[in-house]
Amino acid sequence: MNNTDPFGLECERRGSDRLHCENYGPGDAWTIRRFLGGESGAGAFAFLTSLGLTQWSAKTCRGGFSEGQCGNLAESLATLTLHENNLCRLLGSRATQRFQLGRLRYHEGYIQNGDSRIVGLANVWQIWRAGTIVVSSHLFPGGPHSEAMTEILAHEEYHFLYLGSSIWYGVFGHHRGDPIYSAGETCGD
Ligand SMILES: [Zn+2]
Repeated sequence: MNNTDPFGLECERRGSDRLHCENYGPGDAWTIRRFLGGESGAGAFAFLTSLGLTQWSAKTCRGGFSEGQCGNLAESLATLTLHENNLCRLLGSRATQRFQLGRLRYHEGYIQNGDSRIVGLANVWQIWRAGTIVVSSHLFPGGPHSEAMTEILAHEEYHFLYLGSSIWYGVFGHHRGDPIYSAGETCGD
């Protein structure tokens, strides 16, 4: 992993008690806080904040989100990155990398997709690394679907994980009960 590898970033859980972080970014502070948990997590977060390491910038909080919303995204991504389920961790790691590349994009209100109005969209016709995930304002605190943020991020990232099936899904749609929904629901818990 190095700077030429756009996915060589962020924190990754290694074993039950180790957290490995490379190329630290502000979002990683949320992962560290969640990993340590409780008072030590809060203490570490306060410490990182005092060093200015939780501060978002135009370079680290991209895609049209406010700094508060970048914190919300980081919180959901931390949930995935530290999930006990391997698939969720993989989706979390890849969604975090996508976020840090500025490829999560803010959308105000529902996203019109054909006849349906949705709150998350994976642009899988773009090449997978460059592909964007569109995130509706409705997934943020105070929005009507704020409880679904983590599930939606996992679901949309899954589209990139299985690009073949994603194209299938993209063309034929997908429905509750499909593996992609199950993954989202498992990881969103
Ligand atoms: Zn989908």
